[in-house]
Amino acid sequence: MAKLIGPETVLAIEGLHKAFDGLPALRNISLALGRREVLVVLGPSGCGKSTLLRCINGLERIQSGKITLNGTLLSGEGTDWRKVRQRVGMVFQSYELFPHMTALENILLGPLKVQKRRRAEALADAAALLDRVGLLEKKNAFPRQLSGGQKQRVAIVRALIMNPEIMLFDEITAALDPEMVREVLDVMLGLAKSGMTMVIVTHEMQFARAVADRIIFMDSGEIVEDNTPEAFFTSPQTERARKFLNIFAFEA
Ligand code: ADP
Ligand code: MG
Repeated sequence: MAKLIGPETVLAIEGLHKAFDGLPALRNISLALGRREVLVVLGPSGCGKSTLLRCINGLERIQSGKITLNGTLLSGEGTDWRKVRQRVGMVFQSYELFPHMTALENILLGPLKVQKRRRAEALADAAALLDRVGLLEKKNAFPRQLSGGQKQRVAIVRALIMNPEIMLFDEITAALDPEMVREVLDVMLGLAKSGMTMVIVTHEMQFARAVADRIIFMDSGEIVEDNTPEAFFTSPQTERARKFLNIFAFEA
């Protein structure tokens, strides 16, 4: 567990505050994530999970606090968020694929247009990644020809091809039909095993327990618990966490 900020710390957040029109959405958030660590963020709707992820790649302005990515201070003046977003992969619940472009074209956009990589090299990377998520034969399909689970796997590949230092996942299976959830969770499990540093927001409790090195439980914009998955799921420290877990208790 990376409590200390050291050379192996990929992401460090200290005293982060974020408000929308004076209404606090994140209060005094501090956490540090080490290389290859998987952090799962749990909490009820509206507790600030998405806002936290969005602050990490500059989709939200923060009021105070420090965010550091592999030693680069992101929260100061003059941060080039376009550059930062190349280092932070993010996958959303809605796939955000361009409908008029094939899976492959969607994936190649970042490496070719943003990173200016050579096409042959980017193509080889795209093929390898598509193969890894079981979608190589779908490379020329348009989003409308893909299932939700397939679209989400393409969205993951589109993020991975940028070689991010960390991957953020915001409830990426929440809109999927049940039979497609597993194939997407499996891709995230594979990524975790391969050593990717990840922050995952999910409501899939069994998956959370299986994939996490660490769980944070949030409520009303605060981190209420920061624990190992084992401890969190067997003996949550707070009444709020116990109540939250009870909602999912039928799964046990
Ligand atoms: P979660 O992802 O945990 O459901 P969010 O991070 O989306 O929660 O939201 C946290 C709080 O911030 C909520 O009270 C929500 O209404 C508020 N909020 C989120 N985005 C905005 C926004 N763009 N403008 C105003 N309020 C927002
Ligand atoms: Mg959310």
